[in-house]
Formats: sequence, C-alpha cells, structure tokens
Amino acid sequence: MLEVDTDHTEIREAVAKLCARFPGDYWRKLDRDMAYPSEFVGALTDAGWLAALIPEEYGGAGLPLSAGAAILEEIHRSGGNAGACHAQMYTMGTLLRHGSEAQKAAYLPGIADGSLRLQAFGVTEPTSGTDTGALKTTAVLKGSDYIVNGQKIWTSRAEHSDLMILLARTTPVTEGMKKTSGLSVLLVDMRDAVGKGLTIRPIRTMMNHATTEVFFDDLRVPAANLIGEEGKGFRYILSGMNAERILIAAECIGDAKWLIEMAVSYAKDRTVFGRAIGQNQGIQFPIARAYANMRAAELMVREALRRYEAGENLGAEANMAKLLAADASNEAANACVQTHGGFGFAEEYDVERKFRETRLYQVAPISTNLILSYLAEHVLGMPRSY
Ligand SMILES: Cc1cc2nc3c(=O)[nH]c(=O)nc-3n(C[C@H](O)[C@H](O)[C@H](O)COP(=O)(O)OP(=O)(O)OC[C@H]3O[C@@H](n4cnc5c(N)ncnc54)[C@H](O)[C@@H]3O)c2cc1C
Repeated sequence: MLEVDTDHTEIREAVAKLCARFPGDYWRKLDRDMAYPSEFVGALTDAGWLAALIPEEYGGAGLPLSAGAAILEEIHRSGGNAGACHAQMYTMGTLLRHGSEAQKAAYLPGIADGSLRLQAFGVTEPTSGTDTGALKTTAVLKGSDYIVNGQKIWTSRAEHSDLMILLARTTPVTEGMKKTSGLSVLLVDMRDAVGKGLTIRPIRTMMNHATTEVFFDDLRVPAANLIGEEGKGFRYILSGMNAERILIAAECIGDAKWLIEMAVSYAKDRTVFGRAIGQNQGIQFPIARAYANMRAAELMVREALRRYEAGENLGAEANMAKLLAADASNEAANACVQTHGGFGFAEEYDVERKFRETRLYQVAPISTNLILSYLAEHVLGMPRSY
C-alpha cells in the first residue's frame, strides 16, 4: 500500500468503506452503457459527503476544503469516479459567496440534503472556447424575467441536475469595454424549463461523464435568480475556480495512487521469462518515477489547500496543483497500461477505463496550456500571449 495521507483520516476511511460497495464491475457496466451512477451518487448524498462544504447553518457539514479534497481523492483512489457529482460539492460556492440571503435560504438547505441537485455549470460555448469573454449567450431583462438565448457546450450533468449556474451576457460589448465585463450569473431552475426554452442533448465522449450541450431559446429566468450584481458574473465565476482546480487535482492524485497500486501489484504477480516482470528496471522505473511525481504533486495540492484555508492568495498554487496532479495521473496511467501489456487494454482490468478518465484533466476544467500561460504571465512576469 502507498503511504496514506494523514489528513482527515476518519473521513478517508469512511469514504473508502462506502466506495468498497461500488467495485470495478459497477463502474465498468456504467461506462459501457454511458449511464449515470445514480446508486453511487445516492449513497454519497445519503452519507452527507456531497454537503461537506456547505455551512452548518444551511444544513451542511461546514467542513474545510481539505475535507472535500480528501473525499474526492478517496473516491478516485478506490477506482471510482466523482466526475458524476463533484460539482454538487463546489458549484454551490458561487451561490454561497455571491448569492443574497434569500437565495441562500431558498436553495442551500435543499442542496445540502440532496433534494435539490446543483451540478450543472454552464460557461463553455462552442464558438468561444477558453475565451470566456467572447461568449454569446445573452440574458435580456424584460419585466421581471431575463430572456435567455444561446448555446452552451460541455455542460456536464445537466440531465442529472435541478439547477444550473449559468454565465450569460447581460450587457453587449461596446467600444473600449472589457470583454469580461457585462457578464452575469443566473441560477436557472431546469426542473420546469425543459421543453419551454431549454433543450439538453447528451454528448457521447471518450469516457462516461454525462456531459451535454444545452440550447436556450427564449428561456425565461426570473430576475430574482440573478446572483450578485449584474455585469460582475465573470469575477464571481473566477472566484470559484481555485477551489474547483484544487478539488479536481485531488481527484487526479487519487487516480494516480490507484493506477500506481494496480501497476505495482501486477508487476509483482505477472511472470514472464520465468520471473516477475517487476524485477526488470524497465518496468520498475516508470512506476517509481510516476510515484515520485505523484508525491510532488500531492505536496502542491496540500500547499494550495493550506493557502486556501488560510485565506492567502493562491492562484498560482491552485493552478500548479491542477497542472502537476493531472500530469501525475496521466503519467501513472501510461505506466500502468504499459506494465499490464495487452491486459492494459482489456476492459475487465479497469486500467483502460482509468486511462481514458484521467486524460480529460489535461483539457478540463482548464487546459494545460492555459495554466502555463497563467504562470508565464502572472507569476513570471512575461508578456501576455493571447
Ligand atoms: C468532458 C468534459 C466536461 C466538461 N464540463 C464542463 C462543464 O461542466 N461546464 C463548462 O462550462 N465547461 C465544461 N467543459 C469545458 C472545458 O472547460 C473546456 O473544454 C476547456 O476549458 C477547453 O476549452 P475548449 O474545449 O473550448 O478548447 P479551446 O479553447 O478551443 O482550446 C483548444 C486547444 O487550444 C489550446 N489553446 C487555446 N488558446 C490558447 C492559447 N492562447 N495559447 C495556447 N494554447 C491555447 C487549449 O489549451 C486547447 O488545448 C468540459 C469539457 C469536457 C471535455
């Protein structure tokens, strides 16, 4: 076994116990059918884990971000995938930090007890991509409603969510205006909206992620569902991204640990040419290197968590944690497939599934290049490249 993180040991043990009820064949079947892990998400919700970060006054556990990271890491370390529900944990941060008292009282208790699912986050659009300021979805105030028109893509879990945090343009860009101003956040109640201005279409992807494209056609959203002030939406969305990056990084660390354990175990068991393949340095070294890189990335995740919880500036650390952890899981996935030889490609070993799942984090929720650009510009002081 790899060294166990000593933070939140009881939480880690309890989550690992829950995850043991959902072994590889559970995830494999869902993956084959591109189906949603309802039983798993239900079990996590019932145990209160998805409400870990919601303050106690709204019915959550009021735990720090490091507890959320421990929960998500353990899910991935067990071979599972929290992608189906991780947003329930952090998307509510936008509502918590920027919503009015009335909005928080109306929605957070339901999100905490699981009766309301807030897992959809509509930012990315097909034509604007990473250039969020260029998004085209509009929300125009008419009377007491915003009228929303446009399209989002990669809106994960939209079919399994009651609410969506939506970023839309409320003020057209004019000469001299910053592209990232004039954007606003709306809390869209999707329960009654499908077929009345909202269309959700699933996208089949390389791995099972319940992602969709969403179309808005004169969808009415009550003006009361505007989060914070009009025009400040980009800032609100940005303020939640550090937490998201750290939590996804923790999932990558969990994946890397699972993959390294699988690789080590197979390397010890598999005999070729009359000896364990793990006796060969050509097999040992890639796994050992993946382990060293995973541990280094884990330290950066901890540093980012420490800064987050101390209220310190952490843009660089949150980005580096995501970059290094995604690289570590990608490296571990490569080493694990290689160690398994042909069996690395067989569904029943789950290695190929994890290989596909970890690949996502080179691109989402922010791509590697954009993190490197951030570091080059904001940390190293080089000119902005885009
Ligand atoms: C499975 C999945 C789930 C997702 N879930 C969500 C979700 O729930 N909500 C949501 O809003 N979004 C979601 N996303 C979107 C995700 O955040 C974006 O795919 C990601 O940010 C990259 O944007 P893009 O796909 O538009 O790529 P683009 O912006 O088109 O970029 C394409 C490539 O070009 C590179 N590139 C672009 N500009 C530069 C530059 N200036 N310098 C160097 N390289 C550059 C990028 O790094 C990338 O490799 C999801 C994506 C996937 C695949």
